Amino acid sequence: MTLPASLDEAVAALAAMPAAVPVAGGTDLMAAVNSGLLRPAALVGLGRISEIRGWSYADGHAVLGAGLTHARMGRPDFAALIPALAAAARAAGPPQIRNAGTLGGNIATAAPTGDALPVLAALEATVVLAGPQGSREVPVGHLLAGRDPLRPGELLAYVRAPLLHAPQVFLKATARTGPGRAIASVALVLDPARRGVRCAVGAVAPMPLRPLEAEAWVAGLIDWDGTRTLDPQVTGVFGEYVAMACIPDAVDGELPPAVAHLRRTVAALARRALGRALS
Ligand SMILES: Cc1cc2nc3c(=O)[nH]c(=O)nc-3n(C[C@H](O)[C@H](O)[C@H](O)COP(=O)(O)OP(=O)(O)OC[C@H]3O[C@@H](n4cnc5c(N)ncnc54)[C@H](O)[C@@H]3O)c2cc1C
Repeated sequence: MTLPASLDEAVAALAAMPAAVPVAGGTDLMAAVNSGLLRPAALVGLGRISEIRGWSYADGHAVLGAGLTHARMGRPDFAALIPALAAAARAAGPPQIRNAGTLGGNIATAAPTGDALPVLAALEATVVLAGPQGSREVPVGHLLAGRDPLRPGELLAYVRAPLLHAPQVFLKATARTGPGRAIASVALVLDPARRGVRCAVGAVAPMPLRPLEAEAWVAGLIDWDGTRTLDPQVTGVFGEYVAMACIPDAVDGELPPAVAHLRRTVAALARRALGRALS
């Protein structure tokens, strides 16, 4: 395994060994190796690259290093910056996973259950990719949808997320109590400067879903210059609106019970998320 000390060195190492695979915390990668799904010819370890383990600020945004661990993002100083991402990081698996697993690994794996992903979708974050031809920036949604995927030899270097200075919520439902993968999750952020409510639903589809009509509808009902409160009935309707958008009615009849249950779960998460953000 090669252990570069900088992003440039890591990009050069990947260029020199095109068959090598980058590894950060190894929580996903080693599971794939152990189960025989992956046999990397060589590994480029990212754990010694200090420039991607913290964050900085630029133009009203936080520039987050891909090597930030879930444990680090869960701490109070980070939670003060991007509360929903901190909440997602605190919910991402048991402590040993949170200590090793990274933001970049979560995005690169792009699992439907990746807890950071709906938050990044709701924030409309972008990712900065470093590669042999230099760096480029793409919306996280484009990366996750495969519209603009990682190219050979590229590394996820940073995530650029807006600092909204307003309430944000991440809620996750699991099949059991305690840490577990999401069966559904909802990230919701308020953007008072743009008078917007942005919401993304995770785990119910291959990538996070944005219920854009429900967002616009509820944003139009909020008194942004006043108390910013909504009738509980409205938050309830918002929950249903979000759930219907993400899990539409079956064309030819009733939804199977498990899918109907999932839809109710999404509705409850979205209703609670909006209620908490406005409380
Ligand atoms: C028991 C268990 C429970 C889990 N629970 C949860 C959970 O509740 N919620 C959740 O979201 N996740 C969960 N995970 C998944 C995992 O911990 C996260 O996805 C984690 O963030 C992956 O980060 P990593 O640094 O360990 O990635 P790695 O395993 O090091 O890498 C994962 C993939 O990303 C690539 N990669 C890593 N970093 C980069 C980079 N900077 N640039 C380009 N490619 C890169 C690697 O090549 C590899 O393909 C769980 C995993 C396990 C094993």
